[in-house]
Amino acid sequence: MSTPIGNAGDITLRALDALRRVSAVACEDTRVTMKLFALHGIATKLIAYHDHNAEHMRPKLLEKLKSGEALALVSDAGTPLISDPGYKLVRACLDAGIAVTGMPGPAALIDALVLAGMPTDRFFFAGFLPAKKAGRRAAIAELKAVPGSLVFYESPRRLADCLADLAAGLGDRPAAVARELTKRFEELRRDLLPALAAHYAKADTPKGEVAIVVGPPDKKAAATAEETADLDALLTGAMARLSLRDAVANVTAATGLKRRDVYQRALTLGRGK
Ligand code: SAM
Repeated sequence: MSTPIGNAGDITLRALDALRRVSAVACEDTRVTMKLFALHGIATKLIAYHDHNAEHMRPKLLEKLKSGEALALVSDAGTPLISDPGYKLVRACLDAGIAVTGMPGPAALIDALVLAGMPTDRFFFAGFLPAKKAGRRAAIAELKAVPGSLVFYESPRRLADCLADLAAGLGDRPAAVARELTKRFEELRRDLLPALAAHYAKADTPKGEVAIVVGPPDKKAAATAEETADLDALLTGAMARLSLRDAVANVTAATGLKRRDVYQRALTLGRGK
């Protein structure tokens, strides 16, 4: 079940109704959920369920469910399980034959995506990138060819470094930094990745919560890069066996490309040796 991303008014009537009806609500931080309950006049019992006590609490919650109690799970913000606890609990319920249903509501990744102005037909949510530079760069390289928009969560402290690595790894793609969605100081900054990286390199560390959306790779550029890689592989093989002239003739015949282009590429590869 979802709780608001930032604004307590974002919760659905259906979710509020369920929170009143269940026998207990498992939540990350009881103080956060208590504020939501106070706003909506809900008095249901709260049970803390978070990263630090999940192993211990999960069997207890399952016992309650098996005895016929109905429970709800909420997170401090947005949808449980989305970069938040809950996956193992849902898995354990399903394995035990306990029915699970969702109460969809806000999730920052969806709000960021719809406000970013990037294609929404296909997207990949990559959660938080690794905090260390080498791991982050490797993760970004893995995502480079994903044929859709990319959505990330990031801490404001790491935003500038993360954008610098995204610009280095993904190049000139359009992107958006979505800050404090649904809250009073909601801000969307849209630009090409290198410009966003330059902006946040100079700006003060932003306040609040941040999500990043990056547009899909340029299909033409990706196709060209792939063709070049194929051509390089053919030429390298041919040049290892034949003279430059014969290698170019063979590859020109095999690919149907212009001889002049194949020759130029062969010279470039030859110079790289
Ligand atoms: N379960 C949440 C959801 O459904 O979006 C995400 C929880 S995750 C621990 C918290 C991260 O989500 C933040 O660090 C930020 O990257 C992103 N986030 C949460 N609320 C946000 C908001 N109002 N605006 C922008 N990003 C937000």
